[in-house]
Amino acid sequence: QGKVVVVTGGANGIGRATVEGFLAHGAAVAVIDTDQESGAMLQKKFAKDSLFFYEGDVAEKETLYAFVEAVKQRFGKVDFLINNACVSKKGVLSDCSYEDFSYVLALGVTAPYMLSRLLLPILQPGAAIINIASSRAFMSQKDTESYSAAKGGISALTHALSVSLAGRARVNAISPGWIDTGAYQKDPDYAPDYSAGDLLQHPVGRVGNPADIVETVLFLCSDAAGFITGQNLTIDGGMSKLMIYHDDHGWTYNPEK
Ligand code: NAD
Repeated sequence: QGKVVVVTGGANGIGRATVEGFLAHGAAVAVIDTDQESGAMLQKKFAKDSLFFYEGDVAEKETLYAFVEAVKQRFGKVDFLINNACVSKKGVLSDCSYEDFSYVLALGVTAPYMLSRLLLPILQPGAAIINIASSRAFMSQKDTESYSAAKGGISALTHALSVSLAGRARVNAISPGWIDTGAYQKDPDYAPDYSAGDLLQHPVGRVGNPADIVETVLFLCSDAAGFITGQNLTIDGGMSKLMIYHDDHGWTYNPEK
């Protein structure tokens, strides 16, 4: 049997690109996602024995247990766990409620913890867990508390798990910056439309795409990354390293906008 991979939020965006990346390398993939429509499209596109789609919300406790049971029944083992699903419910300026804030933490922090714990008994030698964080774990725009807190949480969860699971799984995080997922969403006519500034604020001169993340996920799961654990790799085209001073190097701060 080849490698078995679990991907949360694998029906669209970076998750879907990750699913397709693993499938292209001959792995079998179990996807859990709330989006039944996109899940059905995935199921249509890929062979039944390599793609297992489970409709469910990873923020719900019972769903996590049921999904893990289904994965055990179906595959009996897991090599790699990719904790990818997350959403934002904004923050203090939008009066993000107790329920909404708690939901984002359940989705972005509790689910990755519980899936790591529940899948532990069937993790295989050489196992790896990849947690998808965000550059927003380290820097913020206004009104993003629910999402930023979840991303900070999953970042710290990563180094904690890497120590607890020593010898059983390597655990690393990836913090993407701006990743254009348009090619992995439902709209078939999507065409990117970037301003010059959009490109220039990235030292590499472009916006990111899902392949930038997928290649790193595949690397971190490979034996070549056998000495890497507990790390959080920022993949943002250098955007978070660009120091901006008002009126220096052509950058202008316009507080009216
Ligand atoms: P996306 O919205 O395109 O895809 C997310 C997928 O997760 C969807 O298929 C959605 O249905 C699923 N999902 C949402 N809530 C779920 C739940 N409760 N249970 C199960 N599935 C659920 O998002 P994306 O842009 O591909 O982002 C993927 C990950 O990357 C997220 O963790 C996100 O925070 C992170 N990220 C993305 C970017 C970016 O620019 N795209 C930047 C930094 C971090």
